[in-house]
Amino acid sequence: MTVSPEISLADRPTLEDPTRCVVRRIGPEMEEYNGRRYQNCNVLHFDGTEYLFSHRAILTLVTTASCNAACKFCSNEITFTPNGPFLEMNPDLGRVIDFAELAGVRKVAFTGGEPTANPAKLARLVSAVAPRFHRARLHTNGFGLAKTVETPHGHRELLPVLIASGLTGASLSIAHHETTTNRHIMRIKGRWGGMSEDDVRWVASHASDRFTPRLSCVLSSEGVHKLKDILEYIEWGVSLGIKKFIFRSCSQIPEPFQKGTAYSDYNEAEYIPIEPLVREFGMLDGVQETYTQHKSDSHVHVFQLGDDVTVDIDESSEEEDPDSKIRRINVMPDGVAYTSWIDPRSHLFADDATRVSDTIRRELPLLSAL
Ligand code: SF4
Repeated sequence: MTVSPEISLADRPTLEDPTRCVVRRIGPEMEEYNGRRYQNCNVLHFDGTEYLFSHRAILTLVTTASCNAACKFCSNEITFTPNGPFLEMNPDLGRVIDFAELAGVRKVAFTGGEPTANPAKLARLVSAVAPRFHRARLHTNGFGLAKTVETPHGHRELLPVLIASGLTGASLSIAHHETTTNRHIMRIKGRWGGMSEDDVRWVASHASDRFTPRLSCVLSSEGVHKLKDILEYIEWGVSLGIKKFIFRSCSQIPEPFQKGTAYSDYNEAEYIPIEPLVREFGMLDGVQETYTQHKSDSHVHVFQLGDDVTVDIDESSEEEDPDSKIRRINVMPDGVAYTSWIDPRSHLFADDATRVSDTIRRELPLLSAL
C-alpha cells in the first residue's frame, strides 16, 4: 500500500524505528485516502502493515471470560469471547500496548468476565498497563474490590491499590437498586449477593479529581425500564455518594455474528428503545442535555442533572467495519487483539490468523459458512 508524503520525514514522531511510525495525520478536515474520505485519524506503519486509526479509539482488555454472575443480557454469551488464562503482561500484550501507544490511544479499559475475581493478577496487570494511558477504567460487578492483595507495604484492599497504580475510573454493574431484583437479573452465583449499599458507599468514598466511580445499569423489563425506575436508581446512587450514571439498552448484533444462545433470544425480546426515555428525561426540571451522538451503530445522550450529577443514556447496535478505520482494539483472554466486538475476522495482527480460525469454528459456525 502506498502512503501520501503529507508530512516530511522531520515531522514523523517515531523516526528511531522506521518499521513502527505514524506516516500521516488526518485532522478534523475531510481528506481522501485510498479512495475514501476520512477525518480525525492517523495512518501508521507497524511491523510491515499499514493501519488507519481513529484519534478517539479506545483499548479494552478482556481480562478473563469467567464471571461469578450470569446476567441475562451478558454480551460475552452473545458474541465471540474466546477463553484463556487471566490476561497478563507478556510479549504479545506488550506488542498491542506499543501499537496502541504509537496510534495515540489515550484510554484503556479493563473488563471481563469479572476482572476482580483474581485480585492479584488484576493488580499486576493494571500497574503494568495503566501508567501508559491518560485514563484507565475498570468494568466490574464489584465482587473482589475489597479483597486484599500483597503490596510492598503489606496487604491492602484491591481498589485503593488499583487507584494508586493509575486507575482513573470504575464502572460498577448493578442492574437494579433493590438487592433481590438485582440478584435475580444478574444471577449472581455463590454466597456474595452483589454489591451492598455499604459496598457502593465505600467505592464512592474513593472519588477524587483523579478517580471517578460510576454506576452502570442495563435496561430490562424485569428491572429498570421506565423514567420512574431511572429516577429512583439515580436517587439511590446519589444517596450513596455516586455522581455518574450510565443506562444502556441491550446490544443488537447481526445474526451471523451471534452465538445461538438463550442470551441472544433474551436481548432480542428485551430490547428497550432509549429515545422515549431520553425525551422524557430531557424535559425534567434541572436536567440539561450536554452531548448527543447519533451514529449508525451507537446513540449516546449525556445529561447534566443539577450541579454535579452526570447521566448517560446509551444504545448500541454493533455492526461490521464500515471503512477500515480502526475505532477500537479489544484484547481477548486468549491474547488475540481484535478491532471489532462482533467480528473475529478483525484480528489486528496477521500472525494471529490460526488462533482466530479456531475461534470462529468453535464459537460462530454461521460465520465460517459465509
Ligand atoms: S457481570 Fe458482566 S461479565 Fe458478568 S455476567 Fe454480568 S454482564 Fe456478563
